[in-house]
Amino acid sequence: MSITVVGSIAYDAVKTPFGERERMLGGAAVHFALAASLFEQVHVVGPVGDDFGEGELDLLRGRGVDVSDVERVAGGKTFFWRGEYGWDLNSRETLDTQLGVFEGFQPKLSAGSRASDVLFLANIQPDLQREVRAQLPGARFTALDSMNLWIEDARDSLVQAICSVDCVILNDAELRQLTGKPNLVSAAREVLSWTSSPPSSGENHSSEDAPTPGSARGPSVIVAKQGEYGAALITRERFFSLPAFPLESVVDPTGAGDTFAGGFVGYIAAHLGEGDRELSDELLRAAMAHGTALASFNVEEFGTERVLRLTGEEIAARVRELRTITSFSGATLLPRN
Ligand code: AMP
Repeated sequence: MSITVVGSIAYDAVKTPFGERERMLGGAAVHFALAASLFEQVHVVGPVGDDFGEGELDLLRGRGVDVSDVERVAGGKTFFWRGEYGWDLNSRETLDTQLGVFEGFQPKLSAGSRASDVLFLANIQPDLQREVRAQLPGARFTALDSMNLWIEDARDSLVQAICSVDCVILNDAELRQLTGKPNLVSAAREVLSWTSSPPSSGENHSSEDAPTPGSARGPSVIVAKQGEYGAALITRERFFSLPAFPLESVVDPTGAGDTFAGGFVGYIAAHLGEGDRELSDELLRAAMAHGTALASFNVEEFGTERVLRLTGEEIAARVRELRTITSFSGATLLPRN
């Protein structure tokens, strides 16, 4: 079941304690597409400038990614992001963001991109996410990512975008910021209570603002990304969590979240395409494992370098290891009185 992704296609300048790159291929849509294309055909939607190399597009094509909706804007400059990490690779500083061709971008999807049954709205201006969502009204599974910038500057539009998708994938801090709730599980359950008529904006983000749950469609799956601590999955009925895969060497976390999303959504798309009718708990948990495994490869080298060389056997081996390190047995020991 093919996947359409809209989001940034970028050049990134990144510095970590382990090295730096001045201009490497990046962008949320690129990281997502390289991961998801390991499982399914991906259509990428987004603008680039004259400065974007044909070689970079070839890297995507080489993975079977359809780039016909990558719009080259004459005279424009490709989105550019510069970030720096300290020893704590969980937090980074954004030093520069140049929107370039994203300013004034109007997403126009081809018939191929509109025909996808699975849609991922990577982190971009929420109005654009909603425009793209409206162009795939019949999609069977839709997911969205966002960031603190849009929670602060475009909350109303973001909440409407959230209410139009099945799955929200956010950092834990972003979920807290979005809902004003310090507890992660309560924050996720708050978003799960949102429906197509979203709560109004304002300082008070309490659940009293939210419309009656279940009265219309809204998100039914929340994934809280927790950086080096892993990711949690929260649905109305259940909770599941996986640690990040334990690595001795992490070089560059840029794109880990989007790579996770690519593995998670890609796995779901492949299974829905094989006849799975619903998002069972089993399917969602296995998707979490595949997202976690893919993200762990992404951080081993700079940018897209490691994921570009990744093989199916390497992924399968890491998912098996993840299963081993997270399972336990033994009877529950009753405490002595
Ligand atoms: P992640 O590390 O998963 O949060 O994603 C990092 C990627 O997001 C980088 O490759 C950047 O090019 C891209 N990025 C950074 N800031 C933005 C932004 N404001 N809008 C869209 N994409 C961004």
